[in-house]
Amino acid sequence: MNSVKLQKLILLMGPPGSGKGTQSDLLADKFNYAHFSMGNALRDFAKGDTEMAHRIKQTIDAGIIVNDEDARMIFLEEIGKLSNKFEGIILDGFPRTLGQMADVDEAIKRYEIKSYKVFFLGVDREKLIDRLGKRKTCSVCKRIFLPGVFGYDTDTCSFCGGRLEIRDDDNAEGVAKRFDEYIKKTADVKNAYESKGMLIKINGDQPIEKVHEDIIKSLKE
Ligand SMILES: [Zn+2]
Repeated sequence: MNSVKLQKLILLMGPPGSGKGTQSDLLADKFNYAHFSMGNALRDFAKGDTEMAHRIKQTIDAGIIVNDEDARMIFLEEIGKLSNKFEGIILDGFPRTLGQMADVDEAIKRYEIKSYKVFFLGVDREKLIDRLGKRKTCSVCKRIFLPGVFGYDTDTCSFCGGRLEIRDDDNAEGVAKRFDEYIKKTADVKNAYESKGMLIKINGDQPIEKVHEDIIKSLKE
């Protein structure tokens, strides 16, 4: 029998382009933690053959946000499934609202999770615009290439041979818009964690390895 017991929840917050996806993957690899994405959980759930699964599928297909009650049930159920398999879970894209924050608290109680850490990868708006404006995306495998990386100058993906291009919405206006939207949408959750003294701010403008090191250091404290 498997005797793994879930101990840690980690939430990474940060605007699009702050590198939270990369940092989540690095943490998941290093500690063998699960990387929980609410978007993926919903899509998996929608494949089921229950009345609720069909309802969720219709909602996703219509591009509507799943209601809080359904999201709550799916979140708790998924965390329950992962809780016997992993010592840690990294939350990605959840919680986004104060109601969802309460769902996380419920999961902590229900699964007797000992530690919950919340990181915010802060990035300078202007630096982010400059950095993202230069990044290229593979048109085939969607990998991201920054200046100085092999393949960047030749516009050829070193993984799949696909063509690298600068995405239309990576222009200054698009980046600024996504940044501002994120900050606005997550302000309540960020402020709430901050006033509880739980928000750990990480300088997301540093190189990937340094950001990773800072997160690891805070996890050990
Ligand atoms: Zn590629």
